[in-house]
Amino acid sequence: MHDPLLVVAAAVLGAILGSFLNALSFRFNTGRGMGGRSRCMCCGHTLAAKDLVPVLSYVWLGGKCRYCGAKLSPQYPLVEVCAALLSVGVYFVSPTPGLYTLFLFAWLTILFIGVYDLRHTIIPWTFSLTLMGVAFVSLFVGGAPDMWALLAGPLLALPLFLLSLVSRGTWMGWGDSAFELSLGWLLGLSMGLTALMLAVWFGAAAGLLLMALQRLAQSKHSSTVWLQKAFHLPGGQLTIKSEIPFAPFLAAGAALVYFFNVNFFSTISLLW
Ligand SMILES: [Zn+2]
Repeated sequence: MHDPLLVVAAAVLGAILGSFLNALSFRFNTGRGMGGRSRCMCCGHTLAAKDLVPVLSYVWLGGKCRYCGAKLSPQYPLVEVCAALLSVGVYFVSPTPGLYTLFLFAWLTILFIGVYDLRHTIIPWTFSLTLMGVAFVSLFVGGAPDMWALLAGPLLALPLFLLSLVSRGTWMGWGDSAFELSLGWLLGLSMGLTALMLAVWFGAAAGLLLMALQRLAQSKHSSTVWLQKAFHLPGGQLTIKSEIPFAPFLAAGAALVYFFNVNFFSTISLLW
């Protein structure tokens, strides 16, 4: 049985770490260091502790800055809620302190890569390599890994790597194959392949949806403006070539597979 107190503690810890990930996603590689107090991005007012409570501050303030009334990015509460859910999920899957720490670190890095790719359409190598290291270590959790567990990463990354190679990184970013390498090691071959297929479907569905919305946007419909901002779309024509970040879909597919045991190949996975 899982201790309800520990579930609450895991959620709170996740939300706090999620708030840190938000700050990191806005500041990493932008020339702004991680030091110094948090400020409103609009009016520059230093934020007090009561403005920085994960999720609750955003809800209490109605999504607006207390000092200037500027709209706050919905990324803040969304990432905090996702991090809280991931922390609880990891606790359910791996309740022992050592494994919980290892896999929480892995999943928060995955969340960060997804969010950073969505925001900046690039995956920083610092985080790709960090995740790769953690994923590799996770292979040895239950003793020495077998050959297929080791090969799962490179095999699943190969198709994405070839797409990058053929297109010189324009169809598929180099960071995506590095990301998939780590996910393959974390999930194994059959679940990793399931996650990759889900990501391709999610990505295709999102692409079609955005193209449909773009038609609407040409009539300057305001409800689609936030979508353009979220996906860095040009205000004009969206074509199939528009850069849609793939890492968020890979992360979503991986989470579905890992936490809900989705596996398209469960009947043949015994062979692997
Ligand atoms: Zn402000």
